[in-house]
Amino acid sequence: MAASSQLKYPLKTPFSQRPIEKQEPRFVKPRRLSVIAAHHRLHDRKLRVAVIGGGPAGSFAAEALASGGIETFLFERSPSTAIPCGGVIPLCMIDEFSIPIHLIDRHVTKMKIISPSNLTVDFRSKSLRTYESIPMLRREVLDSFLQTQAESAGARMIPSLVTHLEIPFSSSSPYVIHHTINNSRQTLADDAIIDADEANSKVAKSIKAGNYTCTIAFQERIKLPDDKMEYYQNLVEMYVGNDVSPDFYAQVFTKYDHVAVGTVIKVEAHPIPEHPRPTRVRGRVSLMGDAVGYVIKCSGEGIYFVAKSGRMCGEAIVRESDGRESMISEDDLKREYLMEWDKKYLSTFRFLNLLQRVFYGSDEAREALVEVCGSEYVQRMTFDSYLYKKLAQGDRFEDVKMVLSTLGSLMRCKIIGRDMEALKL
Ligand SMILES: Cc1cc2nc3c(=O)[nH]c(=O)nc-3n(C[C@H](O)[C@H](O)[C@H](O)COP(=O)(O)OP(=O)(O)OC[C@H]3O[C@@H](n4cnc5c(N)ncnc54)[C@H](O)[C@@H]3O)c2cc1C
Repeated sequence: MAASSQLKYPLKTPFSQRPIEKQEPRFVKPRRLSVIAAHHRLHDRKLRVAVIGGGPAGSFAAEALASGGIETFLFERSPSTAIPCGGVIPLCMIDEFSIPIHLIDRHVTKMKIISPSNLTVDFRSKSLRTYESIPMLRREVLDSFLQTQAESAGARMIPSLVTHLEIPFSSSSPYVIHHTINNSRQTLADDAIIDADEANSKVAKSIKAGNYTCTIAFQERIKLPDDKMEYYQNLVEMYVGNDVSPDFYAQVFTKYDHVAVGTVIKVEAHPIPEHPRPTRVRGRVSLMGDAVGYVIKCSGEGIYFVAKSGRMCGEAIVRESDGRESMISEDDLKREYLMEWDKKYLSTFRFLNLLQRVFYGSDEAREALVEVCGSEYVQRMTFDSYLYKKLAQGDRFEDVKMVLSTLGSLMRCKIIGRDMEALKL
């Protein structure tokens, strides 16, 4: 039987116009979809995928799906609102994701890191090559560009709040998205879901993906007089210390016509996940971006990694749907998206989490961190790894020197022998 004929809300009519009637209780128990060995063929229609959330993860997923010929819907509750974000991206992202250069507000070339005792280390601009800088942009500008790009590839943008996901009973019946558009409640049936909404994801709850711990980021945009702004022209300041942020750092980022002052603490504001959720794929639902927890803990950096997750998952679905006409399965998503993601980035996340535990564990460790950053070699390696998102090729002799001086700093600050628990992976 054709899959579309089994649908409660037919695929041929994307939005059910009917008011939502009270239905039998939905999915109280978690369900496991059976894994199908061979791809179930769809007849007379393409695979239909809904992407929830129009941030970098969702927009890149929608673009990849639509470019691959999948019928794609991109749900975004507030297309023109900016989420709180520093807007720092790695240099390699500009080429890799074809980000137009005019979207970049500032090209930062100077960085200061300030320790709890006010020891200040300048990341000298000679640690950057002449053509290198740290690009800064506004998220409202980036997100609106990415959403338009997804639409141009053929995705249908739905400015709507997703309120609930109905889980199907079989591996070929559709998921049903409940959403609210202009105060009217509607539904849409879809073969698969890419969830890229946010840390408080409703879809993650619907598929019982488990929880993660979050820290909370605050950010304030402050407009400075021109002479003060001049000082911040191409500068980023990072403050480490228990007084400004117990687990992370506080920063002053130079933005378009203002500075963004931010800190990360453990009370309330915008949540940043500290690690991935226990479940990242269930049935034909994949979680990505902040909804799954792809943020580097030591820096709060997420844009590059969430964009990669969105694109990788979109491309995996295109590949696995055999020319857009076959149903995909949980196994396909795990093999083609999750395993590929883990192969590429798991070790980076583990390594940076280890550094976070060592260097943000106490104010003494933060002193050691700032001391270590005084080395030009460390600065070069840090910039290379951040800007290009691959382990920088170092010099063996300099590497040995770097390890020894790091150990020296940790010993001077009395970390070694006391906080070595943190070094366990
Ligand atoms: C203060 C702060 C500063 C940061 N600074 C940086 C930085 O400088 N560089 C960096 O790389 N990372 C930074 N991050 C992390 C980065 O912002 C996130 O990792 C990234 O935005 C996650 O992208 P995403 O696409 O997964 O989700 P988001 O960017 O959060 O996008 C989710 C989208 O889903 C929409 N949505 C949510 N719920 C629904 C719903 N129910 N229905 C429909 N739409 C919905 C939202 O409106 C939103 O547009 C920062 C985070 C914070 C909080």
